Amino acid sequence: MKDVKRAFREKIVQTGLHMIETGLTVGTWGNISIRDPETDYMYISPSGMEYISIEPEHVVVLDLDTNHVDGEYEPSVEKHMHAAVYRKRRDVNAVVHTHPIYSSAFGVVEMELPAISEDFAQVVGDCVTVALPYELPGTPELGRVAAAALERRNAVLLPRHGALSVGPTMEWALKVCRVLEKNAQIFLLARTLGTPVLFQPEEIETMQSFLKEHYGKRNSNLLTGSQLGERDVNRTRP
Ligand SMILES: [Zn+2]
Repeated sequence: MKDVKRAFREKIVQTGLHMIETGLTVGTWGNISIRDPETDYMYISPSGMEYISIEPEHVVVLDLDTNHVDGEYEPSVEKHMHAAVYRKRRDVNAVVHTHPIYSSAFGVVEMELPAISEDFAQVVGDCVTVALPYELPGTPELGRVAAAALERRNAVLLPRHGALSVGPTMEWALKVCRVLEKNAQIFLLARTLGTPVLFQPEEIETMQSFLKEHYGKRNSNLLTGSQLGERDVNRTRP
């Protein structure tokens, strides 16, 4: 059991480094958490610390009412947003908040990003909406608005702020971040060339069913929420 808890902390550290290396966020912005399905506690990145400086012992453990459980550091200021998502979405075990360039542009103009590729339809949903009204960072109101706007999708845009991505595993949530950012970039390029042609709703449903039925069966972890199923998730890449 002790090793599993250590693994949660290490996963937060690794994910933070990945976010910086891949440009999903800059500086100390953004935050990461994992929910332990056994205790319902969340492991969250500390507040205001450079990602390259975060060690497993800096990770803070909170319950889903944001009460302190373990750790000597201050938790991320966006603890309310992470907890609100876990309270609402029992299928979610990982939440990643980033400040990515292209996805954030959609939040600035409060424009919904539609599914325009197979990967987006499969791992994110039919579209990504903007969490409105605008709420200030770090407030419980931002958590409430973001969790409500997320609905059953795996990402939501925060106006003039960034993006929130979720998944049954950390690897899945990170994949959502990358696919969201890629699709935001493609959509912007497509708009400079002409009018993007969107999927029909039944085409999106078919692609989502394909993922669940063909890949999900071989990787039941992926859809039931194994925290550490990295190899399983990677094998599902179409
Ligand atoms: Zn932020």
